[in-house]
Amino acid sequence: MHSVAMVLIALALLAGTPAAATPAEAHNSFVVVGAKVFDGAELHPPTNVIVRDGLIVAIGTDPPLPDDLPQLQGKGATLLPGFIDSHVHVFPGAQADALRFGVTTALDMYHLGGRDSAAAFKAQRTSLSKTREADTFTSLTGVTPPGGHPSQMASGWGVEIPTLAAEDDVDAFVRERIEAGADYIKIMQDDSTIGETELVAFGEARLGEIIRAVHAHQRLAIVHVSTQEQARQAFAQGADMIAHVFQDKVADDELLALALKNDAAVITTLSVLARAAGTEHADTLSAHPKFTDHLSSFQSQTLGARFPRERPQLLGRILESIGRFHAAGVPVLAGSDAPNPGTAHGASIHQELELLVAAGLSPKQALHAATALPARLFGLDDRGRIAPGMRADLLLVAGDPTEDILQTRELLRIWKNGYGVQRALSDETP
Ligand SMILES: [Zn+2]
Repeated sequence: MHSVAMVLIALALLAGTPAAATPAEAHNSFVVVGAKVFDGAELHPPTNVIVRDGLIVAIGTDPPLPDDLPQLQGKGATLLPGFIDSHVHVFPGAQADALRFGVTTALDMYHLGGRDSAAAFKAQRTSLSKTREADTFTSLTGVTPPGGHPSQMASGWGVEIPTLAAEDDVDAFVRERIEAGADYIKIMQDDSTIGETELVAFGEARLGEIIRAVHAHQRLAIVHVSTQEQARQAFAQGADMIAHVFQDKVADDELLALALKNDAAVITTLSVLARAAGTEHADTLSAHPKFTDHLSSFQSQTLGARFPRERPQLLGRILESIGRFHAAGVPVLAGSDAPNPGTAHGASIHQELELLVAAGLSPKQALHAATALPARLFGLDDRGRIAPGMRADLLLVAGDPTEDILQTRELLRIWKNGYGVQRALSDETP
């Protein structure tokens, strides 16, 4: 019954939107009629959402439907805010790949580009222009000691990454990143406990000095960790978020208490860690009938990639930790770490949601972790919610993903800044 309803909706939508641009496609004003609405936190019964000039202007059945706007029937479907992926690494093409799968905002967590990239990201995300790309926020390059993560990868990239040596001035290093346009600061705190290469971590006191410098500039301090001890150091020194749930242990009570006391959050990256555990989630995504035709060759390639050494015991541990963080009241934010092995920009947010539910979040809480929650914690006040004044970054999916999280994959329509997004790959190049 479900699938028949979905086909009918798809046909109804297709009938209203032939391939050539219609007024609904060409303009960023329209009404979605009769869809359920997940507003970033709560589910509303079928109602209407009015979008004008790229912004959401009204929700509800009371405001009269404007007769100058095209109407889209949303019966049987759910309207959601565009997804925010709280941990990615962008490269050319990444933001177009992200948008085709419903990620309308990508939070980059280490980017080799400098001032020009940051300025271009900012120009796009403050505009309401028609675009084929997700908006981007970035840390630019992070703070790491000589020999620290990701210097083991940098030789492969053919670049030398900036590092903060013991004799270097912390404030000057942080200020340089912020002046270049970093929206938040990523700090690397990793050693060789998990990986196979020798890595240098900061001493705990030095880590504290860096976090205080970041806070002095009113930025969030996000600390990359791999072990519970590194997470403990980060929280003890005042980090706002850790990037990656740690891999060596299940989060213990002491750590949960420390995170809570700090009002700190966890960016999950369950997708990449599931691949490190050797699971097949990424292959299931690749084979999904709503995905296959829309994956770029780069997305197919990174989704199919595997780690040389797989650790099956990892999956249970990371899911249990995320479940414990969530149950304790520590916010968890959906982040995929695309395009690392077993992930792809855009596509992987759907896997991250599935894994959040496997970790013990309700589907609604998982959706919150990819919409309104990251918007609030990162201070993105124009997105992540369906509310008057928000930019119309929207997804329409068949069925109700607050009942079954896998329904997010049944994408019927995506809008960025109120403009319909073409999912077809043939239309990908501008
Ligand atoms: Zn990463």
